[in-house]
Formats: sequence, C-alpha cells, structure tokens
Amino acid sequence: MISDLKNALITVAGAGGFIGGHLVADFRRSGYKRIRAVDIKPLAEWYQCFEDVENIVADLNLKENCYRAAEGASQIYNLAANMGGMGFIENNKALCMLSVLINTQMLQAAKENGVARFFYSSSACVYNADKQRDVHNPGLREEDAYPAMPEDGYGWEKLFSERMCRHFREDFGLYTRVARFHNVYGPHGTWEGGREKAPAAICRKVIEAKLSGKREINIWGSGQQTRSFMYIDDCLQGIRMIMDSDILEPINLGSAEMVSINQLVDIVEDIAGIKLKRSYDLNAPKGVNGRNSDNTLIKQLLRWEPSISLRSGLEKTYAWIHGEVVSQRGRAYAQV
Ligand code: NAD
Repeated sequence: MISDLKNALITVAGAGGFIGGHLVADFRRSGYKRIRAVDIKPLAEWYQCFEDVENIVADLNLKENCYRAAEGASQIYNLAANMGGMGFIENNKALCMLSVLINTQMLQAAKENGVARFFYSSSACVYNADKQRDVHNPGLREEDAYPAMPEDGYGWEKLFSERMCRHFREDFGLYTRVARFHNVYGPHGTWEGGREKAPAAICRKVIEAKLSGKREINIWGSGQQTRSFMYIDDCLQGIRMIMDSDILEPINLGSAEMVSINQLVDIVEDIAGIKLKRSYDLNAPKGVNGRNSDNTLIKQLLRWEPSISLRSGLEKTYAWIHGEVVSQRGRAYAQV
C-alpha cells in the first residue's frame, strides 16, 4: 500500500550536498514521513536541511556509521562522495578513489540490515576516454564504458563501485540500481571554492563581471569542448524512476542537449543581459573534448528522458547564485 511505503524509512547518504539535499526535499514533498539524512559536513554547511528529518552528521568512510545510517532503512540512496568539477577531480585522485570506502561499507550495511533497495549514483566519467576525443560526440551509450579507460581517479572509483553493486545483487540478492549522471546543475549546489562545475562557475563569473563592472570572463580550455547538462528536477525524477524500475545494469541519466562551453557562456550572458570579453586558459583542467548522453536505452525502458531545456534551468540557477553572491559579497553589489 502507498501509505505503508510512505512510512518506510528512507536513508539519503550525502544529504548535505547538492543532489542529496534535493532528493530529501523531493521525498518530503511526496509525503514520505521517515527520512534519514546523513552527511559528513556540519549541519550549518548543508545546502538544504529540514527539521522534520532525522539529520545525522557522520563520516561514512567508517563502517559503524554506515551501519547506523542503514539501520531500519527500507531504501538507501547513496549520493555521498568526494567530488567536484574538473579542477577538483584532476587534482584529488586519491581522495576521489577513497569514496570507494563509502559505497562498499554502505552496501555491506544494507545487506546486513536487510535493506530492500539500494541506489548508487555513478557518473559519465566512467566512459572510455577514447570515445570522447571528438567535440562532435554522438552520445555515449551504456556499452561505451568498456573496454575500461575511465577518468583517472574519480571515474575508476565509480566504475569499480558500479561493479560492486552488481556483485552484491548477483551474489547476495541485494536490490541495487545504478544511474550514470551526466553533469547535473541547479540551485542549492556548489558555486565557488574549487569544487563547482561549469554551469555554476560560469554563472558566478558572469554575475561577478556584471556586478563589478569588469566586463571580462576567463574560460577554462578553448571553450569548444562539449557537454550536456541536466537540470536537477530531471535528475530527481530519473533517480526515482530508475530505483523503481527493473533496470539491472547502469543506465545513463543525462540530457542529450549538447552544447559547447562557449554556447553555455552565450546563454548565461543572455540571461544576465551583458556581453563579456572572453579569454581562454588553455592550461586549466578541461576534461574530455566531447561528452553527451545517448538516451536510447532510457527512452526505450522508461519511455522518458530528461527534457528540461538548458536555458530554463540556467535561468533558475543564475537567479539563485546571484542571490548567494550578493548576500555573501555584501551590499555594495546589491545596488547594481
Ligand atoms: P556534492 O559534493 O554536493 O554532494 C556529495 C556529498 O557527499 C557532500 O555533501 C559531502 O559532504 C558528502 N560526503 C563526502 N564524503 C562523505 C563521507 N565520508 N561521509 C558522509 N558524507 C560524505 O555532490 P553532488 O553533485 O550532490 O553529487 C552527488 C553524487 O552524484 C556523487 O556521488 C557524485 O559523484 C554523483 N555525480 C554528480 C554529478 C553532478 O554533476 N553533480 C555528476 C555525476 C555524478
């Protein structure tokens, strides 16, 4: 019965982060009564925090904390990981690979606690680098992860953890579902400090240029590298649908609207109503040349794919980051 489902305990690991925080909010909106939110960060640093949720600050690298997080849970969504944009993952490979501890201990804890369902957030960074050399990427299909040559560090951890989920399912009968997220963006996420990804970084740079009157922007790479970006609402819907589906193997969860970084800047400039002088840092971390999500499989299996346009998602993201910049950098900017 639906009411029983809504009384079942849901654990969200990484709930102080961007996607985890939105997922907790989404379950609350859908009427779930018992939600446990876990993150290593102090509560004051969580992007979204709710009083009617059981909020736990704990390091999920540690087995005992994973067992505590899993105790009595019916479903676990593991979104906890050490992650960030290219600038972070290229310079913190060991830290990224250490996230393997979180997913491994969480799987063990789920199995020992008889958890009914387990969701793992993988990434497009698992895909073979050879398939991403051309900016005109035709879209990465699920089978393009093998033969394995993923993003060094972060991507290897994701690929290994995907397989760990598969073997817990095959060997121990644990219900596991895995989605490969392609760049997710939206409000209530990282927008400064070194871990932010391209959409948030570009929104921040355009906002700062506008507020300061210094009409210039520095772009990492040539600006010709291509990506697709999925708005958070599509991501949430996809997570819930994949968790409730019969899809056993990792599946793409991403937008198929591919743009170059220059086109991304065009859209954000348009939202801001300004044009900036562009300079390019060719030595900055820029990742693969071209990446897009091939959504053939998700359309076939779920009769759905992410569809929120980049323009409309960026308008909401820009507005939120604008508010953050203004409130953090002081009133001087607020007049502009
Ligand atoms: P995020 O950094 O905002 O959230 C991750 C959270 O995990 C953070 O709040 C962090 O404090 C927490 N965490 C890290 N180590 C922990 C530990 N030892 N114990 C407990 N909590 C810990 O990132 P996000 O964008 O919300 O990403 C969520 C998941 O989705 C991650 O697994 C990430 O790899 C994956 N993913 C995200 C994207 C994207 O574009 N955002 C793309 C592909 C995959």
